Amino acid sequence: MNAATDSRDRPLHDLRISVTDRCNFRCPYCMPVEIFGEHYEFMKRPDLLTFEEIERLARLFVELGVEKIRITGGEPLLRHQLPKLIERLALLEGLRDLTLTTNGFLLEKHAQDLRDAGLQRITVSLDSHDEAVFQQMNGRKFEMAPVLAGIRAAEAVGLTPIKLNCVVQRGVNEGSILGLAKMWKGSAHIVRFIEFMDVGTLNHWELGRVVTSREVVERIDAEFPLEPVGPSYRGEVASRWRYKDGSGEIGVISSVSQPFCGSCTRARLTLDGSLVTCLFATGGIDLRGPMRDGASDSELREQIAGVWKVRADRYSEERSANTDLDGHVKPRAKIEMYHIGG
Ligand code: SF4
Repeated sequence: MNAATDSRDRPLHDLRISVTDRCNFRCPYCMPVEIFGEHYEFMKRPDLLTFEEIERLARLFVELGVEKIRITGGEPLLRHQLPKLIERLALLEGLRDLTLTTNGFLLEKHAQDLRDAGLQRITVSLDSHDEAVFQQMNGRKFEMAPVLAGIRAAEAVGLTPIKLNCVVQRGVNEGSILGLAKMWKGSAHIVRFIEFMDVGTLNHWELGRVVTSREVVERIDAEFPLEPVGPSYRGEVASRWRYKDGSGEIGVISSVSQPFCGSCTRARLTLDGSLVTCLFATGGIDLRGPMRDGASDSELREQIAGVWKVRADRYSEERSANTDLDGHVKPRAKIEMYHIGG
């Protein structure tokens, strides 16, 4: 079956599946603790897609051209028996790449089971090399040591190459750019510096708090000379740079300063079964309802293909036009990050 393409001729290639809205961290740019306190009501189990339902929908997406699935959350390692879902997805014919994004805090315990279940590689969020900044940014003063142990365990079981994601915010952790580069230079792991984005509605985003990828590269290049590397495939999110001395590479993700909507091939499935076609969307198309009402595979496949066909999302390209002189972007009731997992 031909890959579904959208109204801008972008093929449906990547699917991000959120499997929980819960997280053990309280990163201020995603789940600020003042909102997500101990009495916060997370989604009830009957509302979540079951593993059978996730597998069925994922199979239909793969039939429509998806080759890469990323498991996200919240914190996906909090979803009970997650390796059972990984096992099911790893058997999908036509799926080439099965990966997962985690904050790494529980990774040491789960790495072997995830690998045995068929997970191919992993991305770990690591916003600083500095213990104090790390503890401040996870909103819970959790230590970094368990995350570093998780990265070592993931490497030991072969969940490689490991990508390490750092969301850079001016006035918060830009001092960690060089520290993280130094920490992982010479290792096989790739640090990716992500421009701070106005995801969801809770992170008080301002243009002035964005450290652009150009600045990130300049800072590192001044100490460790870099050269650009071409993309591995169309739609690759990160721009790649390698150290001229051959000791590895870094990535930068520039949604604000160099929007890449033109090659965006990503669909998202929320934990309660909605198809979302952009990280900054205000809503999705419910697939869980029709599925639980008995829709056939071809009816569901047609619905997914129909949504993708008319897709025209280009939020990041439009952002600058919606940003005022003070650097504030026009408010929009976007879906929260912890519901669609970035
Ligand atoms: S803003 Fe939306 S369309 Fe653009 S790259 Fe991000 S997810 Fe894709």
